Amino acid sequence: MGAARVHTVAVVGAGAAGTLTAARLLDAADTARLPVEVQLIDPAAATGQGAAYSTTDPRHLLNVPAGKLSARPDRPDDFTAWLTGKLSRRVGSGEYVSRLHYGHYLSDHLARAIDGTAHGRFRRRHERVVDLVDDDGLRPVFSSGAQLRADSVVLALGQLPAGGGWLPGPVTSPGILSDPWAPGALDRVPPHSDVLLVGTGLTMSDLALTLARPGRVVHAVSRHGLVPQRHTPQPLPAVTPPPYRECGDLPSLRRMVLHQAAVCRRLYGDWRPAIDGLRPWTAALWQRMTPEDRRRFLAEDHRHWEVHRHRMPPQTADALSAARADGRVSITAGHIVRATPTDSGVHLRLSDGRPLHVGAVVNCTGAQRALHESTDPLISSLLSTGLGRAGPLGLGLDTADDGRLLPAAGRRPAPVWTLGSLRLGNLWETTAIPEIRVQAAEVAAGVVAHALRPARASVTAAGRGAPGR
Ligand SMILES: Cc1cc2nc3c(=O)[nH]c(=O)nc-3n(C[C@H](O)[C@H](O)[C@H](O)COP(=O)(O)OP(=O)(O)OC[C@H]3O[C@@H](n4cnc5c(N)ncnc54)[C@H](O)[C@@H]3O)c2cc1C
Repeated sequence: MGAARVHTVAVVGAGAAGTLTAARLLDAADTARLPVEVQLIDPAAATGQGAAYSTTDPRHLLNVPAGKLSARPDRPDDFTAWLTGKLSRRVGSGEYVSRLHYGHYLSDHLARAIDGTAHGRFRRRHERVVDLVDDDGLRPVFSSGAQLRADSVVLALGQLPAGGGWLPGPVTSPGILSDPWAPGALDRVPPHSDVLLVGTGLTMSDLALTLARPGRVVHAVSRHGLVPQRHTPQPLPAVTPPPYRECGDLPSLRRMVLHQAAVCRRLYGDWRPAIDGLRPWTAALWQRMTPEDRRRFLAEDHRHWEVHRHRMPPQTADALSAARADGRVSITAGHIVRATPTDSGVHLRLSDGRPLHVGAVVNCTGAQRALHESTDPLISSLLSTGLGRAGPLGLGLDTADDGRLLPAAGRRPAPVWTLGSLRLGNLWETTAIPEIRVQAAEVAAGVVAHALRPARASVTAAGRGAPGR
């Protein structure tokens, strides 16, 4: 028998999701004794950082305790052991450490997988993929014009870039920062002027700490003015909810969540174990909702869910409270009704009638969720060729259970997978590491299973119109 053909996998995006997928693909290649070449493609200089872990401010903390962030759930101490070695002190599993460590950890994790693999090969390319051609194999096309031939593709693109909805109409000015996590973005904030942050979630709390200083007011507004709740220093274990099958619709789900929170408050003096206990069930609950209930959840419950579910580490909450108490940070409900660029920044009118002059207006509203509003050329290409289609409610890409893209009606499914934020419509709970690390292993298993299928079986399955769910 001749040597087996090498299966080339293009992993697009080298943030946490792409880096973990690359590592799991190398593991899966060894388990299957299959020659696999992983090409990890991202214009970013670093591997493993992406938007979340490229910060250089040590006050930006992981919002999940270190003990829950191992790259591999089956080795829960891996991250804390790595930190202990790196920081030369014992790091406990309940600690909230600086986010800047995590990207280095993921990069090291992948390096260990590359060193240890017997059947895998690895290559990192610094390119942006702008198109994916499917003709007798897959061809990711780079912005440089170069192309790659791949047997399978994994899209680990992270969140879609923010749209323009956070501002009243198109406004261009060096003082408008639409992506605060872009390299060097905050260097554009004039050192002595006030600042307006639009959005009051976790990005706001991080940026408020970075930007607050004597003599400057950091204003923050959002339509609701709600700020994330805080984690407790000694978190209690999660409490499993009653069988979710009893929650037939949104009203009964709301009743169940409020009841659980009340029970936990009565028994343990804290509502958090009730919210944390829902985490493993969130995707199933989301999938059971009717489209109408999902829409109502987004309109009526989403903000409250977010501030209770995605909480601030205690140190961040304390620092933000102190900055609010001494007037360096001011958080209110409202939105911008008018923004006029000036020589020294931006002149604003807020919905409560207040005029405000700031050196910079910073978008902290997070990602664009509606896929069809994305201007990303790769997403546009996937939709126009039908290789992918929008997920439920137009959120992210539609996927099978293992993350494989579901194509537009009448189109043959291609061996393309995705994970993380782009699965929002199908899973809802899909953006954080505890979910992404599991998805990375599932995607790797799916890719290797696809590579091992006899050629005739692939054609027959493809002809049926949808990858296995
Ligand atoms: C500020 C912030 C803080 C967070 N903190 C936490 C936390 O504490 N704990 C937690 O669990 N989660 C946190 N998250 C959630 C976070 O999204 C995930 O943990 C994880 O980092 C997502 O990784 P990703 O690879 O999916 O996306 P990203 O990190 O966004 O990486 C996507 C990568 O894809 C690349 N890319 C995109 N399009 C292309 C293309 N066409 N061609 C080539 N490359 C492309 C980008 O350059 C980028 O490097 C945070 C998120 C943010 C934004």
